[in-house]
Amino acid sequence: MRLKAETVCTIDALIQKILDDDKQYDLSKIISAYEFAAKAHANQVRSSGEPYITHPLAVSFILLELGMDTDTICAAMLHDVVEDTDTTLEEVKKLFGQDVAMLVDGVTKLGKIPLFTKEEQQAENVRKILLAMSQDIRVILIKLCDRLHNMRTLHFRPAHKQRATALETMNIYAPIAHRLGVRTIKEEIEDISFRYLDPYAYNEIEQLLKIKNDERESFIDSIKRQITERFAEANFTRPPQVDGRVKSIYGIYKKAFMQGKSMDEIYDKYAVRIIVDSVIECYNSLGIIHDMFRPIPNRFKDYIATPKSNMYQSLHTTVIGREGIPFEVQIRTWDMHHTAEYGIAAHWKYKEGIKGKDKLESRLAWIRQIIEAQQETDDVEEIVRTIKSDLAPEETFAFTPKGDIISLPNGANIIDFAYAIHTQVGNKMKGAKVDGKLVSLDYQLSTGEIVEIITSKDPDHGPNRAWLDICKTNEAKSKIRSWFKKERRDENIIKGREELEKEFKRNYIRVPDEELEKFLADDMKRHHCNTLDDFYAAIGYGGVILSRMMQRMKDKYAKLYAHHEQEVKAFTPKKSSTGIVVDGEENVLVKYSQCCNPLPGDDIIGFITRGHGVSVHKKDCENYLNAIKSGNEPERWIEVTWAENSINNSTPIYKVTLDIVASENILILAEISKTLAELHVPVSELSVRELKNGNSSIVVTINTAGVSQLNNIITRIKKLPSVIHVDRTGK
Ligand code: MN
Repeated sequence: MRLKAETVCTIDALIQKILDDDKQYDLSKIISAYEFAAKAHANQVRSSGEPYITHPLAVSFILLELGMDTDTICAAMLHDVVEDTDTTLEEVKKLFGQDVAMLVDGVTKLGKIPLFTKEEQQAENVRKILLAMSQDIRVILIKLCDRLHNMRTLHFRPAHKQRATALETMNIYAPIAHRLGVRTIKEEIEDISFRYLDPYAYNEIEQLLKIKNDERESFIDSIKRQITERFAEANFTRPPQVDGRVKSIYGIYKKAFMQGKSMDEIYDKYAVRIIVDSVIECYNSLGIIHDMFRPIPNRFKDYIATPKSNMYQSLHTTVIGREGIPFEVQIRTWDMHHTAEYGIAAHWKYKEGIKGKDKLESRLAWIRQIIEAQQETDDVEEIVRTIKSDLAPEETFAFTPKGDIISLPNGANIIDFAYAIHTQVGNKMKGAKVDGKLVSLDYQLSTGEIVEIITSKDPDHGPNRAWLDICKTNEAKSKIRSWFKKERRDENIIKGREELEKEFKRNYIRVPDEELEKFLADDMKRHHCNTLDDFYAAIGYGGVILSRMMQRMKDKYAKLYAHHEQEVKAFTPKKSSTGIVVDGEENVLVKYSQCCNPLPGDDIIGFITRGHGVSVHKKDCENYLNAIKSGNEPERWIEVTWAENSINNSTPIYKVTLDIVASENILILAEISKTLAELHVPVSELSVRELKNGNSSIVVTINTAGVSQLNNIITRIKKLPSVIHVDRTGK
């Protein structure tokens, strides 16, 4: 639901929009505010050449779209008159009343806070804005709409102003819009800012989206159709609304850049939204969706039981469509939907009455809480820290001496910066200055800093291997690796051979030299290496990651060279405590068997496998009981016990799946989800299916610390009135 992106707006269009609305507006007051502002700004023009009044008109229009009240629309119309014309606040008060004057004053004062300065001050400014909005939230909503219109018309401004404004918007206004939950504004100002801050990346994503446009639309259409058809059979008060959408460009960029994922790996690039009438129908819909499509584990989130701090509520899950393409499904009620789209402004747009200022008070309580929590401490540093961590954008923007902006993930340092400018700048770097001062290469950059990279003229100068451990971005890492790959083959061969020898020794792999090439043949082929030297070189520059293939090598070695169980047992693992003690030894490689899924506290027994260490079963596991009965290889079963810390310490987390049968299917998912949320138990999967006898079968996968916590969870679920029984899978 995008706001209409009109840059030019007339008073007639505004009046028409007011007349079309069912709400009661004081039309004559709004028209006289318009006439007053038009006269006051009469001689001024915008950078676009348009009369200045087009700006307050457009801001008023956006606020009208948000459903704001008469006084807010009037104040928006007048928001620049005190600042930019001879008009005084007294005049505004006399003509339009105390409320409008207070709003105009608030917006004018906000405009005077210098926003883009040093970082500490930036946080302080954000605090001022938060304080201003606790007086009257409408002030900040006007300011956000003012900024939105300025962003929409930013192309008329000179280039250096564009960057500064975009940066300020990204750093300050977008986080505030997010905090207030006004998604429509947040996404639009983020996308526009991003287009100015990183036009290259913006265009790239835009192009990628365009190329696949037809494909995408037909995919979303087919999903929508399948869901709509299936829901028609279910008993809903009225058919749910099913919408499909693509994430915002900046949203996609954040995922791709921050998490180093390719476009294909961004699951929620496609999203389908289902809007229903009640909370019960939300959970019902979730059950239907999980029945129709295969859910991806660990992607289920219940923001209904646990709302986000900006009041956002929905159920989120990611499933795989029949075409094999994953997509996110968001399920919510209409009420939750309005809050998700308009945040705090939804109060005006969808709640009854415009006068209900008292009710508004209670909805504003949460904003006050934020600020009051910060006022309890006198420690200014602490306040700044809190706001910074609350409102910190996930990116740092630093400048080149020429003023180009380089955007990097938070925590990035000089090396990342240098490689982000150009590969050659990174490779030739010998030092750097930040704001004119020399710094070390691991210096962490902050937004607004100017970074000058000092490069070497020496043609042989190159990066240092240690940089690989210092730099934060994948871009820098891969560029450094590729330099070593090309420039330092001999060095890489020596380093790679050493590494392989070390790893083999650690894992007790002793392959005779003359058989080594044969032993490694598969892996060499897999990495397109023709000779052993090629393979060593690949290990040396990091193109082949040994740790990823050691398990396979150990298996192969066990198969070809190890003939005694004793030797299998000698494959002691690298990692420290596994949580299991075997024969008095703590560090034996163990794995938990899939058949019975033992948890700390269970009675257990170990089985010596060929090449995978010891697999741990429960003593009442069918597989164990059968093996003992058959008398097959009894010598391979050994006593194992839980290590002290695995029972007392809650750090290791185990996945457990519960099968629940209940007599009720409407409320049950909601109840289970709520119970687990109360117990702070993370849920990775939750699905429901109707059984032939009318009962429901619910499968829920949770993360738990051990048997005692699990027993508690099971007891709580058993207490739910409609639950018939609860079973741990694999018993
Ligand atoms: Mn303005």
